[in-house]
Amino acid sequence: MNASLLSVRKLTKRFGSFTACDGIDLEIRPGEIHALLGENGAGKSTLVKMLFGVLAPNSGDIVWNGDHVNIATPAQARKLGIGMVFQHFSLFEALTVAENIALSLDRSVSIADISEKARALSISYGLPLDPNSHVADLSVGERQRIEIVRALLQNPKLIILDEPTSVLTPQEADKLFETLDKLKAEGRSVLYISHRLDEVQRICDRATVLRHGKVVGACEPRKETAASLASLMVGGDVAGV
Ligand code: ADP
Ligand code: MG
Repeated sequence: MNASLLSVRKLTKRFGSFTACDGIDLEIRPGEIHALLGENGAGKSTLVKMLFGVLAPNSGDIVWNGDHVNIATPAQARKLGIGMVFQHFSLFEALTVAENIALSLDRSVSIADISEKARALSISYGLPLDPNSHVADLSVGERQRIEIVRALLQNPKLIILDEPTSVLTPQEADKLFETLDKLKAEGRSVLYISHRLDEVQRICDRATVLRHGKVVGACEPRKETAASLASLMVGGDVAGV
């Protein structure tokens, strides 16, 4: 029996002579909201791009549901049950929500079918979205909902969100946190990337902290003080907290 959904061992990514991710270990359990916490440049986005088949690791292992896997493309990641909401969206402005979703599916589905499913999902997860609206007319928060609904359409076991609140208003962030709680209640896992301690302490069950491409700690953020988390993230003593 393997209790973890995803187990990452010594994952390493170099860009030339620079090591962005240096032997990273990470374990994600079913039904948890797991934070990947670290300052800008810590290697968070690089790590999750390897988990979603966007970047190829130089070395290391990824074990998914007990099986060693090689995730070479986003299509493979989605097939395993991994969904991703990127920090920077890749949407076609001139197309509708449903047309954008159709383009990203690995199989051919009618626009009418996608519209209906996307509408139903957006309602049930509290992320209102009109599938027939054009992306150009939508706010950045609404665009993020497209990415989330697009990921949910594949019924993922793990959803990765890369700094999702950086583009949201506080009200939109509150709605997103409700959605994440619902995903968790359904037994899905969430990998939540952030450098904001307050939200990690509010919504995450466990956290893995990265600094300069290395894991410097793992903890239950609700049991930590903000000062101890900050010191872990930044390194050394943090003055004034
Ligand atoms: P984070 O998401 O934690 O802010 P990133 O994973 O984006 O950090 O970046 C980690 C480090 O790797 C940074 O120093 C960044 O400049 C570098 N980096 C990221 N992508 C590339 C790339 N494609 N080529 C070269 N360096 C990169
Ligand atoms: Mg990043």
